[in-house]
Amino acid sequence: MQFDVKPSTNPVPEAERTALIAQPSFGSVFTDHMVMIRHTAEGGWQTPLLTARAPIPMDPASSVLHYAQEIFEGMKAYRIADGSTVLFRPEANAARFRQSAARMAMPDLPPELFVRGVEELVRQDRAWIPTMPGGSLYLRPFMIATEAFLGVRPAREHLFMVIASPVGAYFSGKTEAVTLWVSQTYTRAARGGTGAAKCGGNYAAGLLAQAEATRNECQQVVFLDAAEGRWIEELGGMNVFFVRRDGSLITPPLGTILPGITRDSIMTLARDMGMSVTEQPYAFEQWRADAEGGEVVEAFACGTAATVAPIGRVKFEGGSFEMQSGATAGLVTETLRRALFDIQFGRVADQRGWVHRV
Ligand SMILES: *Cc1c(COP(=O)(O)O)cnc(C)c1O
Repeated sequence: MQFDVKPSTNPVPEAERTALIAQPSFGSVFTDHMVMIRHTAEGGWQTPLLTARAPIPMDPASSVLHYAQEIFEGMKAYRIADGSTVLFRPEANAARFRQSAARMAMPDLPPELFVRGVEELVRQDRAWIPTMPGGSLYLRPFMIATEAFLGVRPAREHLFMVIASPVGAYFSGKTEAVTLWVSQTYTRAARGGTGAAKCGGNYAAGLLAQAEATRNECQQVVFLDAAEGRWIEELGGMNVFFVRRDGSLITPPLGTILPGITRDSIMTLARDMGMSVTEQPYAFEQWRADAEGGEVVEAFACGTAATVAPIGRVKFEGGSFEMQSGATAGLVTETLRRALFDIQFGRVADQRGWVHRV
């Protein structure tokens, strides 16, 4: 697997880069390079290219522009205590990318090629990793259907790419708790749909719900199931956990939700610490009753972009309730958040093979 490497002849000057990575807001600053691998039904995956980041010329009939054949991943490269650069469970992202591709009738990208593409970009743009606490290089691998064809069938030409963006903390205000909006108008996934695939279309369909949340002064939406409008699924881009008074955890089961790698890691860490974790349907009305009755004392959202975000307040049409932990992270949330960070930033030994050196 030989990468064709064509470094930028016009990279951002060092002083400018240093200023750009000092205070990055999420996803608005990009590094000097990108990875591109084209695929055709006849020729398979073509020679991978690492090149200067630039706009991509596209035919206006490209399938992705009309029928949304698009999938993506989100992962981070960290500079750890010993000065090396690491990825967190990139094989898990590669495996999920495969699942998403299969669901969207897109070609199968071998996991080694996915990981190698990400590694190549991280190596090339290592200097863009922010040095402030909690800073990282957010990586966005994605695939689009590029065939110029308006007929409705799986496309025969695709493009896989990786771009990178230096990021700080996702929510301003660090571990301050977020306020959530429970949407009773919109849903994100139904049985047989694309809820478990990381595809752009899910996000497009969730934007109005997110706008509804913003209008109600909430940072994120909680989606309920499409069939009964009763069971908690997840947030627009994060999974969710509830902490009972006895310290045990509940999280909604897989199926129509996105199988988060952070979700999986949190479950593993919690169980290794002796906490009980159950994946079970949990109704919104139950959450409200449990929060008000002191049975559920903490809740948090988790995902690569925001890591672990404590939930402080929950609003919905006609009311609201608060978590006992209030405006900060509760004890269990903080314990798990720290345990995850300690592994990701190399502050404790990695016993599970999660940390992948670049
Ligand atoms: C990416 C994503 C998550 C979180 O997944 P991680 O692997 O933990 O980053 C959760 N929900 C949705 C809808 C997502 O797209």
